[in-house]
Amino acid sequence: GQCTLVCPVGALIEAPHWHEVLHTLDGRRRASVVQVAPATRIAISEEFGLRPGTVSTGRMINALRQLGFDHVFDTNFAADLTIMEEGTELLARLRAGAGLPLFTSCCPGWVNWVEINRPDLLPHLSTTKSPQQMHGAIAKRSVFARALGPDFAAGRAEPYVVSVMPCTAKKDEALRPGLSGDVDHVLTTRELARMIRSRGIAFGALSEEGRFDSPLGESTGAAQIFGASGGVMEAMVRTAAHLAGVEESLPLEWEALRGVRNGIKTATLPGIGMVAVCNGIAAAQRLLEGEGWREDFVAIEVMACVGGCLGGGGEPKSMDPQILQKRAAAIYAVDAKAPRRRSYENRDVQALYASELGAPNSPAAHHLLHTHYAGRGSRRALLMRFLDCVDRRDG
Ligand code: SF4
Repeated sequence: GQCTLVCPVGALIEAPHWHEVLHTLDGRRRASVVQVAPATRIAISEEFGLRPGTVSTGRMINALRQLGFDHVFDTNFAADLTIMEEGTELLARLRAGAGLPLFTSCCPGWVNWVEINRPDLLPHLSTTKSPQQMHGAIAKRSVFARALGPDFAAGRAEPYVVSVMPCTAKKDEALRPGLSGDVDHVLTTRELARMIRSRGIAFGALSEEGRFDSPLGESTGAAQIFGASGGVMEAMVRTAAHLAGVEESLPLEWEALRGVRNGIKTATLPGIGMVAVCNGIAAAQRLLEGEGWREDFVAIEVMACVGGCLGGGGEPKSMDPQILQKRAAAIYAVDAKAPRRRSYENRDVQALYASELGAPNSPAAHHLLHTHYAGRGSRRALLMRFLDCVDRRDG
């Protein structure tokens, strides 16, 4: 059988870390940072009885401030950075004619599956870190970290970094060799809801006017669509087209890559090649059955959950058969209204390259923003780690 660190039906409940997080925040011994994934700001609404598909970005930010986080940042900032690195990596591989097709690696459920079931694909995985891990690295170890407080700037204490994700597998990702230490605790959307309830915060009554802090808070529409199946690829296409100099001849929106129904979605990019999106791990298994994928595609997105992260195992459970469509519609609506919709237009990302990283894929960028993958042992070892990340007591 196949094994991933993901439970699409949500029958397994994440190992709870929210008590520990509240305890650390209450202690206030060091600057605290929280980053929130794109899927969470939509689905959190459902936990508080708001209509499915309601965007609660501002309410969520205000709740996080009331919980005691000093800095409330957007994982989407790092999603734009991921796209800069991954888009550049794709073009470099195209030029070299090696390591193609490039598989996305921002979904730890998929990365775990590859390591266990198809280690021969490891060289195809993008070395670009996921947005969660990039954000942690930037918050702890970049020049931007100086903005987080005088203690940290003076090297006396590193910030306490928490991420809120739609995903139980992200808890395991934060512990990977080569990545551990940059994110201290990972909470799911459901855990955040429990924290908010435990403090008696009336979520629905909060203002929707809240804003993320800068400089790790700006993001474009391209980053927001990371939360939906096909979104990572569409975001990469928008920036790769710019980097390849073919942007003028290509559309901004890629309907063929969107939607939660189709398992495998494809699109042809003149001047770049054909790309594919696998909506769920079963779709990836189907794509990999033949050998055609090796020749047909230059890049392939795989998200382990059907619908992408908006269908993640850390999201609220729902009996609504249209729930994935409603959450996806909300995500694309945020993108459509965004003043900037391509990752390279993110001004905070531009500033980070100007001040510290130089250019995408530079040695400095590689040091901070890339990793490598190697088999992490047997199915048994994976299962043991999985059991560390879930808690079946209240399942
Ligand atoms: Fe986690 Fe998203 Fe991957 Fe599901 S698709 S395992 S929620 S990263």
